[in-house]
Amino acid sequence: MFLCYIDESGTPDIPGSSSHFVLAGISIPIDKWKDCDREISVIKLKYGLAGAEIHTGWMLRKFFEQSKIKDFESLDKRQRIYEVEKIRKLEILKLQKSKNKRAYQQTRKNYNKTSPYIHLTFDERKDFIKEVSICISRWPFAKLFAECIDKIHFDPTRASRNIHAQAFEQVVTRFEKYLQVKHKFGLLIHDHNETVAKKHTELMREFHRYGTPWLLKINQIIETPLFVDSQLTSMIQIADLCSYALRRYVENDESELFDNIYHRADKIRRTVVGVRHFTAPECRCKICTTHRREPETP
Ligand SMILES: [Zn+2]
Repeated sequence: MFLCYIDESGTPDIPGSSSHFVLAGISIPIDKWKDCDREISVIKLKYGLAGAEIHTGWMLRKFFEQSKIKDFESLDKRQRIYEVEKIRKLEILKLQKSKNKRAYQQTRKNYNKTSPYIHLTFDERKDFIKEVSICISRWPFAKLFAECIDKIHFDPTRASRNIHAQAFEQVVTRFEKYLQVKHKFGLLIHDHNETVAKKHTELMREFHRYGTPWLLKINQIIETPLFVDSQLTSMIQIADLCSYALRRYVENDESELFDNIYHRADKIRRTVVGVRHFTAPECRCKICTTHRREPETP
């Protein structure tokens, strides 16, 4: 049996704040789950992140406060936290007084999301994420499935589904095909988010009943997706890293993290079948060139 952890990056809204919406799934056999979790925990421990949730998008931002602290790199962990928190507390007080509710809420959210990482410099955070991506690249049993939708190319008047549903349908179809070849069963695991949970559960029920446009029957994926708390499950955080790396590659051509995780994309011989870039036919990115190398098997 295989578990496929799913997460998304970017917004499915048009236009939204990103040009792409990415849904990625990373599949592992159930007997590897503990080893994967342990390997990630070892890397977290090395960077003082034991028990912290890896949220790649938040981790790879520049923390403005750190640049204001003199010789931040030379301070120890406790001092770094103390100095960053001092600046942050003052900023929160200032915003409270200014009565700018929106800025206050946004700043609080920003501080909450990034507080587990403030003891690490920007370079250390980048090294951490890179180390995790290298770790993923070395899991020969792991397979990456993803749909990267270019929202400019997506024509809602011609598409039968919305962006979110198309992405889910594609990932489900590719994971199911992989399981059919392996003669194994699989389960989708998703971060708990009420809106997404409802949509994906309904879609999965529909696929079980009628198949998808690409597959008459879904036989190998069992149940509707299981929803877990991403804070407690490292493997969901890995799916978050994968979707982030894919989006940053298709949007900004950032290839360092992408190359590591793309190594795990499901292939038939030399053709990548697990990951697709839904965009203009003339695209020559690594996904499009490796996806189109040979005609896809039906
Ligand atoms: Zn492309």
